[in-house]
Amino acid sequence: MIDALVIGAGPSGSRTAWNLAKAGYSTTIVEEDEIIGEPCQCAGLITPRTFEYLGYERPVFQEMNGARLWGPNDSFLDFQASETKALVIDRPDLDRSIANRAIDAGAEMRAGHRYLGHKKSEEGITATVQSKNGKIEIKSRLIVGSDGPASRVARDAGLSTKREVLAAFGADVEGYQGRDNHVDLFVGSELAPRFFGWGIPTGPNEGRIGMATVLPNRPKNFFRDYFHKGAPSKLLGGAKIINRVSGLIPFGTRNPSYTDNVLLTGDAAGMAKPTSGGGIYSGLISADAAFEVANKALEKNKLDSKTLSPYQDLISQRIGGELTKGHHLRKAFLSLSDDQLSEIISILGEPKVKDAIEKTGDLDYASLAAFSVLKAQPKLIKFAPLLLKPFI
Ligand SMILES: Cc1cc2nc3c(=O)[nH]c(=O)nc-3n(C[C@H](O)[C@H](O)[C@H](O)COP(=O)(O)OP(=O)(O)OC[C@H]3O[C@@H](n4cnc5c(N)ncnc54)[C@H](O)[C@@H]3O)c2cc1C
Repeated sequence: MIDALVIGAGPSGSRTAWNLAKAGYSTTIVEEDEIIGEPCQCAGLITPRTFEYLGYERPVFQEMNGARLWGPNDSFLDFQASETKALVIDRPDLDRSIANRAIDAGAEMRAGHRYLGHKKSEEGITATVQSKNGKIEIKSRLIVGSDGPASRVARDAGLSTKREVLAAFGADVEGYQGRDNHVDLFVGSELAPRFFGWGIPTGPNEGRIGMATVLPNRPKNFFRDYFHKGAPSKLLGGAKIINRVSGLIPFGTRNPSYTDNVLLTGDAAGMAKPTSGGGIYSGLISADAAFEVANKALEKNKLDSKTLSPYQDLISQRIGGELTKGHHLRKAFLSLSDDQLSEIISILGEPKVKDAIEKTGDLDYASLAAFSVLKAQPKLIKFAPLLLKPFI
């Protein structure tokens, strides 16, 4: 019987395992992929704050200090901040760096092992795991579901709830003609219905481009059009795909994200931000909160739902407020027609509004820009009065 079994070696799982192993708990990570971090399902854009939070840095391809926002009719607004707002990183490298820290702290890593399910037992849980050599059972006092958007642990623990799930598709391309240190964002129902598309320079002549949308829209079909139509095609003339990326992005915090002997972290708990789809930073926050609660519960050897329940309050205090505001902003965004989006983009170009965005724009805390933009131009509230009211 081990103390903790973590399912998934993404950022949130490895961070949880690192915390637990460092505190002296016997910890095993089960990861279905053979190589940690691959296949990559990410655009690799994080804030400098994420490295601060991690406590160390990894190589950066480019620092982003600007963004171009492309509206439905191909015109764009150019934002230029005076500081670095985001970093383009090697996402598989980030995942491996966190996993290696967990291993160095004493966690056992079982890559190439797939979690199949778990049952509650008297002392904790018994998980069934598929290895190359057949099925094995792992007994643990606690199981942490860090197994991403389609979390099986959440399902087995009865914590699945209906939530909005976006499907994303993108690629690394050669011959990319974006602007250095600038992220390109594309909005409009023809390009990226119900979300947005992105273009991110990664180096000379290279970039990452992609989009996400809500099923039944197929992101792959929209992405194919990017090479021939509209604003993205301007950055992709003659570009060649080197590597494809796809994945799911779930929105909506799971409440509860815990039950007897079970905690969920990261995407499994619904930590992705509804404004950007980014989930690395918020996933790390949930991992630390999960550890704090698990540590007390393991010490007391009381892993019942009631003892684990402070986890929900912790994630709610530390990131829940921003996720809720993000949810309101997303609802407001979804209520807009293409004509309204174009009108809004022209208002965002007014000097005082643009200035507010350049100063307060923050990938992790999009609500800060929403507050300052509505303060700079209150007439924007007319586009979604009920949803935007909390921001004035
Ligand atoms: C196309 C795309 C682009 C994105 N871009 C960004 C971005 O630029 N910045 C950002 O912050 N976020 C981005 N995200 C979101 C981000 O990738 C996630 O929020 C983040 O990875 C969540 O971390 P996690 O540790 O919770 O889960 P994950 O990173 O998804 O890790 C889950 C792990 O569990 C493993 N697993 C799943 N099921 C099992 C099983 N049954 N048995 C064993 N192992 C299992 C998986 O193999 C995986 O390694 C993007 C997402 C997509 C899809």
